[in-house]
Amino acid sequence: MAVPQSAIGDKPNLLGMTLPEMTAFFAAMGEKPFRAKQVFRWIHHGGVDKFDAMTDLAKSLREKLPQVAVIQAPKLMTEQASSDGTRKWLLDVGTGNGIEVVFIPEADRGTLCVSSQVGCALDCTFCSTGKQGFNRNLTTAEIIGQLWWANRAMGKDPKGERIVSNVVMMGMGEPLANFDNVTNAMDIMLDDHAYGLSRRRVTLSTSGVVPNLKRLKERCPVALAVSLHAPNDSLRDVLVPINQKYPLAELLATIKDYLQAAPRDFVTFEYVMLDGVNDSVQHAHELAKLVSGIECKFNLIPWNPFPDAPYARSSNNAIHRFRDVLQQAGLIVTVRKTRGDDIDAACGQLAGQVVDKSHRTQQNNRGSSNPSRTIPIINAGLTV
Ligand code: SAH
Ligand code: SF4
Repeated sequence: MAVPQSAIGDKPNLLGMTLPEMTAFFAAMGEKPFRAKQVFRWIHHGGVDKFDAMTDLAKSLREKLPQVAVIQAPKLMTEQASSDGTRKWLLDVGTGNGIEVVFIPEADRGTLCVSSQVGCALDCTFCSTGKQGFNRNLTTAEIIGQLWWANRAMGKDPKGERIVSNVVMMGMGEPLANFDNVTNAMDIMLDDHAYGLSRRRVTLSTSGVVPNLKRLKERCPVALAVSLHAPNDSLRDVLVPINQKYPLAELLATIKDYLQAAPRDFVTFEYVMLDGVNDSVQHAHELAKLVSGIECKFNLIPWNPFPDAPYARSSNNAIHRFRDVLQQAGLIVTVRKTRGDDIDAACGQLAGQVVDKSHRTQQNNRGSSNPSRTIPIINAGLTV
């Protein structure tokens, strides 16, 4: 059994509590709300995981807290730094599962790519995370724990600003399929007593879980990225199978509605470039027509290969031709740069570990007979 990080044994894990939850927890102990705020700040502002270190708490409270609660982040297994400044941490989330967290420095920001699940159930055909199957949702503590670790490692710049300035929910998993834990973790990211990120600096990427995108608009509207990857339903049904349930017309109408509440007035469409599959000039024309009337930017992602995948990366020529057609139609397009190559941290190269509970890897790979083996996973992700 995986150890749930929101409660270790019988004790709740304070790392995964939002401020209102922590306030309620403290109230139940007969403690005042400002005590909850102090502890919340120590954990997220201070990066502290020892009650002893919370020097402005009454000694009696410092002694009481370890008896009723824990502060437990996922354990750090390895840390790597690339020559281009990209950093990568492997975190242990129990029972043979690991997730990777990547930090990408840019001129004007530092972006952290955060995972929401161990594996993914949605099975997009070009995605290694999908192909490796699904194990479980990450808890709120495990999601916010990724930012907690990265802040501890990166610290602040000389002006006192945090070096991790942006978060993209683009690591392993489908964030809208783990709605409650992801939105609670985003609440903590946005809280001024924790990380104080503005909604514009937190981006959620989804393959299009329409009902939960509608809920996100009400619950926690942040910047939005949508994995489009095809200009019509027949191709998207194959590449992104959730499209069979929530086809393009429904998805695009929901995005339009979401933008009413979003902190940025555009959606970023991600489009992975697959040689001979979705990268022709005709596809580009069809795509430009499809999105007309939606405020959007395109991010073309050169596909990153993984073993036994039935695809190849589009040529640079094909990518540039595709970009030019979209630009001529008046769209803003960037081609994603590959970062962290030397430490395998580029989009589609992350190697966490998934013990596949859905046994998809066996269905995909009929020679294998050990269902509980630890499978290296190549994860997808990175900046918008
Ligand atoms: N599940 C969410 C977020 C995680 S995937 C989603 O699908 O949007 C983050 C991005 O990486 C998605 O746009 C995904 O389509 C893309 N991606 C997946 N596998 C990839 C690969 N092998 N090469 C390049 N991009 C990939
Ligand atoms: Fe899941 Fe996103 Fe990969 Fe699709 S692209 S399988 S939704 S992680």
